[in-house]
Amino acid sequence: MKIVVHIDEAAQWQEALSEALPTATVVTSEAPADERKEADYLAIWKAPAHLIQEQTQLKGIINLGAGVDYLLKTPGLPRDVPIVKLRDAGMGELMADYALYGVMHFYRSMDHYAEQQPSAHWQPHAVPEKSQWPVGVLGLGAIGRFVASALQQAGFPVLGWSRSPKQISGVHCFHGDDGLNELLSQTQSLVTILPDTAATKHILNAERLAQLPKGASVINPGRGSLIDEQALLNALGHGDQQGHLRGALLDVFSEEPLPGNNPLWQHPRVIITPHMAAPTPLNDAIDQVIAYLHAFETGEQLATVNPDAGY
Ligand code: NDP
Repeated sequence: MKIVVHIDEAAQWQEALSEALPTATVVTSEAPADERKEADYLAIWKAPAHLIQEQTQLKGIINLGAGVDYLLKTPGLPRDVPIVKLRDAGMGELMADYALYGVMHFYRSMDHYAEQQPSAHWQPHAVPEKSQWPVGVLGLGAIGRFVASALQQAGFPVLGWSRSPKQISGVHCFHGDDGLNELLSQTQSLVTILPDTAATKHILNAERLAQLPKGASVINPGRGSLIDEQALLNALGHGDQQGHLRGALLDVFSEEPLPGNNPLWQHPRVIITPHMAAPTPLNDAIDQVIAYLHAFETGEQLATVNPDAGY
């Protein structure tokens, strides 16, 4: 079995996979072209198109992350090779931490305290009942459902939304357009953990942002394409003039790195993080990749990516 690896920490991956699979040949994308050829599997993250195009006998592609948007846009991606992606692999917990931080930031008025500090303004703000602070979670996949449960365990009422109906203990699950409308109208802090697909592009447009109650906040660690950035800026208001929304914590953007002249950088009610919400924990990911390779080789049924749905 030959595996070609492409990711920033490729040498570590090569070592770990070689150790776990002593009979396999594991090379990185840095290897000479003739050593990369005729791979059985690619284990890749944001790989150059040629690495995929040069293969002639692939049995499977393992996406070394949860989002497959980059991979599915790769020119020459074969349609007949099954693709699997990392599912949770420790990212759920990291994402839950990020979401909880974001919700707490607004729930405990940290945005107001940051605003007060430059003028040495000492003014505590009342803490509402958690029961009065419903949190909406868009996307209830491997990561989203983990986040929804963590927020629920932290004491917030949680409303979740996905494409197909779901049952998650303690989470009020919605689906479909009507479900989204209902969720948005009740949500105080909205966490978006949907994939980047044709159907989710600008799912939060001006109209949908306006459906959130006045003073609601948005936390987006999903993908930049989910939110119409101009509509978000308008909803947040300009300068000291607060708009319909109270603030946003954003980890992902339509263009990354976020260009220096993007007005989101300067907005007083926006916090920017550089796509760091849930980096893939190496050991968990390696274990999952080894399990995938084993399943491919033994013909076990695998939950594969649906290129038509885009995730
Ligand atoms: P999954 O594929 O497991 O789940 C995706 C969820 O989104 C599912 O619940 C799915 O619904 C739902 N969904 C997809 N399309 C629609 C739609 N059109 N309408 C309603 N719901 C929809 O993904 P993960 O949970 O593993 O990851 C989610 C995303 O998080 C990734 O795609 C990636 O973009 C992002 N991410 C960001 C990271 C960061 O560091 N910022 C790190 C890791 C991931 P259903 O269940 O019905 O199929």
